[in-house]
Amino acid sequence: MPQKPNLKEDALRYHEEGRPGKIEVIPTKAYSNQRDLSLAYSPGVAEPCLAIAEDPEKVYNYTAKGNLVAVISNGTAVLGLGDIGPEAGKPVMEGKGLLFKIYADIDVFDIELNTKDVDEFVRTVKILEPTFGGVNLEDISAPACFEIEERLKEELNIPVMHDDQHGTAIISAAALKNALELVKKDIAKVRIIVNGAGASAISCTRLYMALGAKKENIFMFDSTGLIHPSRGNLSGKKPEFVNGNLPAETTLEEGLKGADVFIGLSKGNILTGEMVKTMAKDCIVFAMANPTPEISYEEATAARKDIIMATGRSDYPNQVNNVLGFPYIFRGALDVRSKVINEEMKMAAVLALADLAKKQVPDLVNMAYGEDNLSFGRNYIIPKPVDPRLLTAVAPAVAKAAMDTGVAKSPIKNWDEYDIQLGK
Ligand code: NAP
Ligand code: MG
Repeated sequence: MPQKPNLKEDALRYHEEGRPGKIEVIPTKAYSNQRDLSLAYSPGVAEPCLAIAEDPEKVYNYTAKGNLVAVISNGTAVLGLGDIGPEAGKPVMEGKGLLFKIYADIDVFDIELNTKDVDEFVRTVKILEPTFGGVNLEDISAPACFEIEERLKEELNIPVMHDDQHGTAIISAAALKNALELVKKDIAKVRIIVNGAGASAISCTRLYMALGAKKENIFMFDSTGLIHPSRGNLSGKKPEFVNGNLPAETTLEEGLKGADVFIGLSKGNILTGEMVKTMAKDCIVFAMANPTPEISYEEATAARKDIIMATGRSDYPNQVNNVLGFPYIFRGALDVRSKVINEEMKMAAVLALADLAKKQVPDLVNMAYGEDNLSFGRNYIIPKPVDPRLLTAVAPAVAKAAMDTGVAKSPIKNWDEYDIQLGK
């Protein structure tokens, strides 16, 4: 990606100036006199301790647990930078904390673990459970990320989500649903080419199937080629997506001919305009590799006028950006003390996002993007990250899905009050 002049210097200065980093801890109670201090700490603090000892659920009444999320990484798959280690990943985890706070008023402790061992990782997070209301796993490489998340979901009683898998899946599924609606195609009938078979591609494809996409119409490629039944020793979750409806030796170029949808979660500059030209009418191309997409916005839109194009980048229309999801999904989950983030809650987020894109866009969103009149269409299939309505659209939908599926320990009783609490 061509970097803007001075971006490097500006970014380093931004992180270094003042107190280094992006996060601090601020007390939420009065502490101005001796009385306050005797309540905050000894002897008064013993009272909430005793109350919690008697009823552990009271930890949510008397401590910050219920609004505190752990953003946990071992730095093995940071952004598109790869395995750069836990210290080098810390700016990303602090950044995630910043986004949780500004978009959903959720407090975050970022935790960087110096281990690549799955058992050690799982054990460490498990013994941290008392501190947190939820766990956002971040930037952990495949296939370890699958096992870590599966085991923690099983063993913990607080919501756990690996955002690199599910965040992308949720946002791109909302975008796909709306794109297909615009071109009047049935998700059960479209042919989908998924390029990439890593953490995000697997999770996205599973969610598209939950939306109605058919496995026999989905062709997944990794760096070796088509994921075909004849392929021996397929790693990770790849065996889930073997498809024998095309010959084993089919290339990406051949697979794309007549395809309706291209999903790119692989690496930059893999697709050409010539290949896009061979896709079906009203083709949908989500080139989501970061920072360089599988095909540039310019090349793809030059190749086809009837294309619907999305990327992971903020400087083009239809940015698939996880920040549309994780703050609000955790907000909804925390607010009902959900024990998990389940499939129904993810699907509720998909539908809420897809629906919000069809509503009239507030002026401040238009202004933030220098637009006069953003409206639902080929260049606006998902909401923009600055849209303040995301909180009140997504969090209640997720909370409601948790309640409907019986995983909410503290259901919302008055939805009007909840809206006010969210600042509607
Ligand atoms: P990952 O787990 O490392 O998976 C990468 C996958 O790409 C692997 O399956 C790899 O194949 C495959 N691949 C590499 N070169 C390929 C090629 N030439 N043709 C076909 N497949 C190829 O990474 P990830 O976390 O899923 O992320 C993948 C990409 O998506 C990254 O660029 C990431 O930045 C981007 N991403 C974007 C968003 C967003 O919101 N825009 C979100 C998540 C991820 P092998 O299995 O054979 O190695
Ligand atoms: Mg990430």
